[in-house]
Amino acid sequence: MQSTYATPDLLISSAKGSRLKDSAGMEYLDLLGGIATNALGHNHPKIVSAVTKQMKRFSHLSNIYGHKPGIELAEKLIKMIGDDSARVYFCNSGTEAVEAAIKLSRLTGRKEIISAKGSFHGRTMGALSLTAQPSKQRPFLPLLPKVKHVEYGDLKSLRRKISKRTAMVILEPIMGEAGVVVPPSGYLKAVRQLCDKFGVLLAFDCVQTGMGRTGTWFGYEDDGIKPDLITIAKGIGGGLPLGAMISIGVDKNLFLPGSHGSTFGGNPIACAAANAVITEISRKNYLISNRKKGEFFIESLKKLNGVKEARGKGLLIGIELYKPQAKIIAKRLEKLGYLVNAVNENVLRLAPSYLITDSEIKKFVQALKLVLEGVDND
Ligand SMILES: *Cc1c(COP(=O)(O)O)cnc(C)c1O
Repeated sequence: MQSTYATPDLLISSAKGSRLKDSAGMEYLDLLGGIATNALGHNHPKIVSAVTKQMKRFSHLSNIYGHKPGIELAEKLIKMIGDDSARVYFCNSGTEAVEAAIKLSRLTGRKEIISAKGSFHGRTMGALSLTAQPSKQRPFLPLLPKVKHVEYGDLKSLRRKISKRTAMVILEPIMGEAGVVVPPSGYLKAVRQLCDKFGVLLAFDCVQTGMGRTGTWFGYEDDGIKPDLITIAKGIGGGLPLGAMISIGVDKNLFLPGSHGSTFGGNPIACAAANAVITEISRKNYLISNRKKGEFFIESLKKLNGVKEARGKGLLIGIELYKPQAKIIAKRLEKLGYLVNAVNENVLRLAPSYLITDSEIKKFVQALKLVLEGVDND
C-alpha cells in the first residue's frame, strides 16, 4: 500500500458491538468507532440483515435508475431536518459531500468561500482548500482560489471577511479533527444572522457531528437555527461508505441533471444500511442516551489529574492533557485493551459507538487514571 497512513500495529480479525479482537486474540473496547463512523458498533444485526436482504435483491444500479432504499433514506433525512424544501444529494464520503457543497455554492454566481482555521473538511482538492491547516495544504498548493479563512468562534474575524461576494461560509458545529473544539455559545447563531445579512449560504459540515452523535440528529440543533447546506457522512452508513449533501430552502434549479454526479453515490446497499441505522437510533432513543452518557463521561474525565479539560457533546469527546503525551497515553491504553485516538499531541479523541455502557465508561476512566499516573511517574 501507499505510505499515506502510518503502518498500523494492530491487525483486527473480528468485531462485535463495541469490541474488537486482534489477530493475537487480544480484545479491545473500541472508543473510536471507526472515527465516529460505527454509530451502532460493529456487526450490528439490524445492519447485517438490511444489507444482506438488499444484496440479494441488487447491490448496484448507477443513478440512471431509482431504488427504494435511496428514496426512503432521502425521505428520512428530510423528515429529520423538518423542512420539506430540503433536497438530498448522495455520495460516498465526507470529502465528496463537501465538494458537492462547493459546487452548489458556485452556482449562485458568487465565488468566494470562507472556512475556519484549523477546520477539517476533507482531503480532495476542493475540500482541502477549505481544510485550513497549512501542514495539510502546503504540499499541494495551488488550491482553489478565493477561499478565505477566519478564526473559529470569533465573529469579528468573520465580519472582516464576509461580503456580498461570499458564496458560502462552511463550519463544523464542533471542530472534530482540530481536537473537539466547541465554539462559544451563541456563535453559530450569530454566524447565521451574518450570513443572512449578506445573502450567503451557510453550510454546516456535520460529517463528524451528525447522525445523533452529539445528542441531536445534526450537531447544530441546540443553537435553534438551520443552515442552508448540510454535509454528512461517517456515521450515516453505520460502517458502510455513504455521504450526503443536503440543501434546505436553496433554489432547486441550481443543481440540474448533469451538474454533478457519482457512480456509487447513494448505492442501494449503503442506503439500506443507513435506513437501518436511522430506524435503530430512533427505536432505541439513542439521541437522549448519547447526550446523557456524554455528560456522565465528561464529568468523570474532569475529575482525573492530568486532564486539563474534558469537552465535547454527546459521544464526541476531547480530553485535553496538561502535557503533550497524547500519543504515549493512547499507546498505553491500547496495551490495556482500550482504543482511543491521539488527534494531536495534547488531545485524545473519543467517538465510541452508541452502544457503549456506563460500566464500560467507568472502566475506561479507571484505566486512563492509571495510565495518567504511570506517565507522571516516568
Ligand atoms: C472526516 C471528515 C470529513 C471527511 O470525510 P471523509 O469521509 O474522510 O472524506 C469532512 N468533514 C469533517 C467534519 C470530518 O470530520
